[in-house]
Amino acid sequence: MDFDLNEEQKIWKKIVHEFAEDVLRPKAHEVDEKEEFNWEAVRKGGPVGLTGMSIPEEYGGSNVDAISNAIAMEELGWGCGSTALAFTAHNGLGTSPLALYGSDELKKKWLPIVASGKNKLGALALTEPGAGSDIQGGIITRAEKDGDEWVINGAKMWNTNAGIAEYIITLVRTDPKGGSKSLSMILVPTDSKGLTIGPAEKKMGLRGSPTHGLTYDNVRVPLGNLIGPEGRGLQQTLSTLDAGRISIGAISIGLARGAMEAAINYAKERKAFNQSLADFQATQFKIANMEMEIELARTYIYKAAWLKDQGRPYSKEAAIAKLFATEMAERVIYDAIQIHGGYGYSREYPVERMYRDARLMTIGEGTSEIQRLVISRHVLAG
Ligand SMILES: Cc1cc2nc3c(=O)[nH]c(=O)nc-3n(C[C@H](O)[C@H](O)[C@H](O)COP(=O)(O)OP(=O)(O)OC[C@H]3O[C@@H](n4cnc5c(N)ncnc54)[C@H](O)[C@@H]3O)c2cc1C
Repeated sequence: MDFDLNEEQKIWKKIVHEFAEDVLRPKAHEVDEKEEFNWEAVRKGGPVGLTGMSIPEEYGGSNVDAISNAIAMEELGWGCGSTALAFTAHNGLGTSPLALYGSDELKKKWLPIVASGKNKLGALALTEPGAGSDIQGGIITRAEKDGDEWVINGAKMWNTNAGIAEYIITLVRTDPKGGSKSLSMILVPTDSKGLTIGPAEKKMGLRGSPTHGLTYDNVRVPLGNLIGPEGRGLQQTLSTLDAGRISIGAISIGLARGAMEAAINYAKERKAFNQSLADFQATQFKIANMEMEIELARTYIYKAAWLKDQGRPYSKEAAIAKLFATEMAERVIYDAIQIHGGYGYSREYPVERMYRDARLMTIGEGTSEIQRLVISRHVLAG
């Protein structure tokens, strides 16, 4: 057993950390306050390889392994939760299904555009106003064939990146009879007639990551925009979410690490009862718990990513990793705020933003309850 990153991964960690420090951190407060997306991160992240992490080199991507993806997502999460979410929604959701299951023609047309960092990003729309966790039974957005086109009607909800995307991969029902082979993914360019991207949602956190509702009113796209064989949408979605869960867990570790660092700095500076907060054992124990939790979460995130890199099943491990890392971030950032006292409740201090950003992580890409369902099903199936 080897717990070391390889040389390439160590260099990658350093590169992404410096990127996060230079391009994400300085704007993290501003993008949250102004609810603006950090475009500079995309423009500068493209050449670094951060917009092509799921895209093969022949289509202009950097195609990193799963551990390197987790490393990058932790560093980006450390830099800015909002911008990290936009990157994972692009790489893991918006480009990965196309790279894995799309036709060569579709990949050649779209992947180089979104890999470069010079253009807009990719997005994936699964969730609907009436269905999030219940993908299989709840999706009512439908696509019907008409000549050489698909005609799409319906609505989607909570779509990360929709307003900053070149296209939205849309999960639709292609067989009205239902069942596990009735869903398909179709690529819908954002300039398609009949597609309306609603205004950015007013959110609690991750306010620099635009999230939109969508409506599809007789949206027509070529039959060739189908991703993979018709009826494979559910399987493609579940597999995409397995990988995405590692990324959401990794972002959570980055957020927790950022909060812990802020708490340590504050505890060393702030005085109470003639000593620094760091001298109280109550503070030291909080810091010890933070370190333990972050280390444990990262070790398990790497395990899930390692299994993926080995081509082995990792669905249960991805669920455990996401569940633990996202709930861990809540505990760690809660304590980081506690160490800051009243200042931790101020929007002038980063721990307040990190707390709001972390709250989404136990909901997006499968809630904590759904992770527990996945884990218990694996365990009970023996
Ligand atoms: C900021 C943000 C960004 C998002 N980005 C995207 C995106 O890019 N693309 C996309 O498709 N979606 C996105 N989502 C949607 C997100 O994935 C869903 O919100 C999530 O999957 C939960 O679905 P829901 O909101 O419909 O809740 P529901 O499915 O209605 O669940 C509500 C509650 O019931 C619980 N519950 C549901 N079923 C069960 C069950 N069987 N057993 C026990 N408890 C259950 C849930 O755990 C939850 O607590 C985003 C959401 C947010 C808030």
